[in-house]
Amino acid sequence: MGLLSGMACDLYDGKEGGLNAHPAIPADAIDLHTHSTASDGLLRPADVVRLAAASGLAVIALTDHDTTSGVAEAAAALPSGLTLLPGAEISCRVRVGHDRWVSLHLLAYLFDPTEPVFAAVRARLRSERITRAQRMVEKLAADGHPVDWERVRALADGVVGRPHVAEALVEAGLVGTVQDAFTPAWIGAGGRYWVGKDEPDVTEAIRLVRDAGGVSVLAHAFASRRGKTIGPDVIAEMAREGLGGLEVDHPDHTPDARAQLRRLAADLDLITTGASDFHGASKPQPLGAETTAERALDALVAASRGAEPVTGPVTEQDP
Ligand code: AMP
Ligand code: FE
Ligand code: FE
Ligand code: ZN
Repeated sequence: MGLLSGMACDLYDGKEGGLNAHPAIPADAIDLHTHSTASDGLLRPADVVRLAAASGLAVIALTDHDTTSGVAEAAAALPSGLTLLPGAEISCRVRVGHDRWVSLHLLAYLFDPTEPVFAAVRARLRSERITRAQRMVEKLAADGHPVDWERVRALADGVVGRPHVAEALVEAGLVGTVQDAFTPAWIGAGGRYWVGKDEPDVTEAIRLVRDAGGVSVLAHAFASRRGKTIGPDVIAEMAREGLGGLEVDHPDHTPDARAQLRRLAADLDLITTGASDFHGASKPQPLGAETTAERALDALVAASRGAEPVTGPVTEQDP
């Protein structure tokens, strides 16, 4: 079975010791950053919320890359007792020097998915992701590496990302694992076959989220193993532009990074969150591996007016 193909439901049917269930999640736990097959997660949106309930979570946010398209399916399948926070993780960038840019991920919560200006930017980002993945496939082909674009497209149920190209590389026998594809020799950031995306400036993204009634939280800001990171001065500027919070507890943050971010959030009066960034079995962290305090969730809800936390079916999401 390919890494990105569907996972059998019996892996997380709520039985004790289910593969993905976290052993010690408090009953009121809140996980505000997860992915489904609407982007590069391995579980369908319905299965993410079922697993969340089986894992004992009280609140989960679905934050697929550049789309809310999984929210309706997740909401329709929402087990009773579980609240869903609709969201998305927006790829953007910030200028840190004369001609240096750093890519950032902005978590956007509780915005109105039908607000046309932000919706159009999400649509543009999704479309740009297709062109960019095609260009990576073309670069691979130019070097004689047989990766089929149609196969990459088929591996992605929704938004196309590098994990789908990586899986196609694994299938073609060019690399051993998805991890091996995220290296300079292949499609790791700046790597031989890597192609960047045309991302909005983070200031613009913060404004888009806010104008759509949502609240934004900077994802995994100090996860240095993911690539270049920004400094406190850049985050302070984002706070002035309307950033709502910082994701402090994230699997890719060291204890020192968490302590720095917590101090920074206190200085800048930003909400602090914690979340697993769950993608399914392609990443080690289970749902609920990191969690958010209830008062932080309350603050996010209070800071937004574009949508409500969901406890039943919804309509009108990204296509
Ligand atoms: P993209 O947004 O298309 O550039 O793809 C980035 C996504 O690839 C991230 O959201 C992760 O889910 C995934 N990713 C990044 N680095 C790695 C890695 N080293 N191994 C596996 N997946 C990764
Ligand atoms: Fe991802
Ligand atoms: Fe991210
Ligand atoms: Zn994420």
